[in-house]
Order: sequence, then structure tokens, then C-alpha cells
Amino acid sequence: MRKTGFVWDEKYMWHDTGNALGVLPPDGKFQPWIHFENPETKRRLKNLMDAYGLTPRLERIYPLAATVEQVKYVHTAEYIERIKTMSADKGGNAGESAPFGPGSYEIALLAAGGCITAAHAILDGVVTNAYALVRPCGHHAEADRGRGFCIFSNVAITVKDILSRNDISRVAVVDWDVHHGNGTESVFYENPNVLTISLHEDSLYPYNTGAIEDRGEGVGEGFNINVPLPPGCGGGAYHAAMERIVLPALKTFKPDMILVASGLDASTWDPLGHMMLLSTHYRSMTQQILDTATQICQGRLLVCHEGGYSAGYVPFCGIAIIEALSGEQSGVIDPFSKYESSWQLLKPNQEEAINKALQAAVILTATG
Ligand SMILES: [Zn+2]
Repeated sequence: MRKTGFVWDEKYMWHDTGNALGVLPPDGKFQPWIHFENPETKRRLKNLMDAYGLTPRLERIYPLAATVEQVKYVHTAEYIERIKTMSADKGGNAGESAPFGPGSYEIALLAAGGCITAAHAILDGVVTNAYALVRPCGHHAEADRGRGFCIFSNVAITVKDILSRNDISRVAVVDWDVHHGNGTESVFYENPNVLTISLHEDSLYPYNTGAIEDRGEGVGEGFNINVPLPPGCGGGAYHAAMERIVLPALKTFKPDMILVASGLDASTWDPLGHMMLLSTHYRSMTQQILDTATQICQGRLLVCHEGGYSAGYVPFCGIAIIEALSGEQSGVIDPFSKYESSWQLLKPNQEEAINKALQAAVILTATG
């Protein structure tokens, strides 16, 4: 019987990114509005789960805060100290577009720690797989600076932490956030024991990373796969990218565990991406990875929430993923799924982009 863990802490919602004009800090020249990275998307997902009785059917995992030693697996001591000091005062900006308020240092430790706690729960057999609904997100954060709403690199810290166990030697990370997983990539760029795969909108954010040619370096060459996709991709393109690149690479690499950096900002309603996924597609991508995990690593799969900025639609995508992971049916019917259209079919320009990425990933995909 499958048991799905669920990481949640109310404190995640207290991370305060302040007002903004979407992503632009208030400057007195325009009416301030909300910051796109605000608690609503994730809170509404949790609320929908509660309203439909899904939450109690999952195994609640209470996050332990990451220790400074764990965060140092990825980040410099100076950076960690800087965030701690700013957080104890009024907050500030962790680097590039990573605003935070008082207390966010502790919340960011709890976000990284939530992913770590869930990973060990899976490896210890307490749960089969898990969904970590954490905030702030992590995949853009670099060793010495926060970027793109991310403070600490939740997934990379977790991978480093579980690699210190003697029952784990290889881990794969699949990042389907609409933005490139630059932070995670940078941590493992020369590491052949961690396969990092990022599906993202070409040249969106960061603007100059995520190229097909960035395949890893030294002994890590070939163990980083970037699949930059043209704007407008829907279920057809993502399904093809999964079938042709992601799943064969995972099957060849044979990790002991798979983590998904799960941004829900490739949805058709997202203000920060230009893709067209529906909850049905997030459900089927989760099923594809879950089936592969069952084949190659005893179903060990941890899905960590990253971006996703449509407060109206993120909850439906999140529920679809959690239903696929757990095999539970919440009864939620996505009212937006009727907008499925021919745009969801694989288009020639999308196929061309996928074929290019496939050629660069041939070391892992050819024998899979
Ligand atoms: Zn994103």
C-alpha cells in the first residue's frame, strides 16, 4: 500500500515578499500591487486539499529546520550569515529579485528542512513518496546569493544531505518549473552521481542560462540535461520531452531516488511563464515519473514545490500531482480543464527543440 507524505507548516506562509508591481519593487512612480510570489498560491492549494478532505489521507510530515551545517553543503558561510543578520532586522533582498521580510531566515531553514525531512522519511520507509509544499522556493538560489524569489537551494541541499547516507549513491533531479533550474545545476555541474534535468521555457529566467550545450563538466559531463522549450508548449510537447528524454535518461542513470523541482508556473494561467499546461498534464507527468521510479528505485520520489504564480490555478495543478502520487481521489474537478485545445498537440517547432535537446543528451538517452 502506497503512503504519501505531505510537508506543510503555517510558517511557510509568513515569508513576506512585500508589495510589488508583480515582480518590480515599488518605486513611487507606479501604484504598488501584489508581489507575484505571495502566499496565496500555496495557501489556496492547502485550503483546497483541506476542503475536499485530501490532507488527512496523507501522512503529515512535520519539517525540522535545516541546520547551518546542512545549508553549508550548498551556500557560503558569509551568505548564510548575511541572510540571518538581515532577517533579524527588517529583511531586504537576498541578491537578485529575492526580497524577504523579518524572520525569513528561519522560514527558509524550515523550507530546506521540510524537503530534507521528507527525503529521509522516504528513504527510511516511513512513506513511499512525498509532496513538500514549502516556501520560499529554492532552485534559483546560488552559493553566495539568492535569485528569483529563492533564498536557500532546498532541493540541492536535500540531495547533498541524502548523499551522505551510505545507502544512497546516485540521485536524479527533474525540474519542470517554467524557469531554468540554474542553482541546482550549478551545485552538481561536475558531479556524475547527480543527474540534473531541467525542462524550461527558453531564455526566460535566468536570461542567459539553461542552454542545451550546458551538459556538465569534467567527470560530470553528460549528467546535466537542459531542455529549453519554445513559448507556447502544452501537454503534447511536455509529454514528448518526458517520453523521449527525461524517462530514458532516468532509466539509464538508475538513481536511488528521484526529486522533482515542481514549479507550477508552466500552467496556461501563469503570469510569469508562457506555456500552456493544464492540471491534467501535471497529473500525467507525475504518473510518468512515478511509474519510472517504481521500476528503478522502489518508487522513491519526492516532489518539492517551487514556483507557480496563478493563485486561481496552482491549486488544481497541485491537487492533480498529489492525487497521482498518492492514488487518492479528492473529488476536485478542475473547472479549467475544458480549455484543452489543439494547442496541446505537439507542434513542429516544439518537436525540433526537443530533438535538439535529445541529441545533446544522447549519452544517457541512447541506451535507455
Ligand atoms: Zn519558476
